[in-house]
Amino acid sequence: MKSLALKTDWNEVLRREWGHPLAHESGHALAAILQGISCYGIYWRKGLGVGKFCALSPDPAEFNRKYFVFMAAGSAVELLTYGSYDEDVARSDRVPFERSDEGLAWALSRID
Ligand SMILES: [Zn+2]
Repeated sequence: MKSLALKTDWNEVLRREWGHPLAHESGHALAAILQGISCYGIYWRKGLGVGKFCALSPDPAEFNRKYFVFMAAGSAVELLTYGSYDEDVARSDRVPFERSDEGLAWALSRID
């Protein structure tokens, strides 16, 4: 007997459900490697009801240019891959920029 269930397109499910978070964290991980920042991989952080993917790297003693590249790379890869990025996810990555004169100057120098 043939199954009447519709065939699930798992590539589409993966893209729709996890594409942005995985592209985002992959951007952080790649930037970490390119900037010489230790990165121990991408992991799932449990949350209250909802969790999230995170790139695991040590907290810097101070933010400098290479860490700003690392922080910006997550949303940059989403933007390059999908043409948009998750604003809620990007918000926490912007905090170091907003707290640092160097980070703000670096970010502004990238805007043309
Ligand atoms: Zn991020």
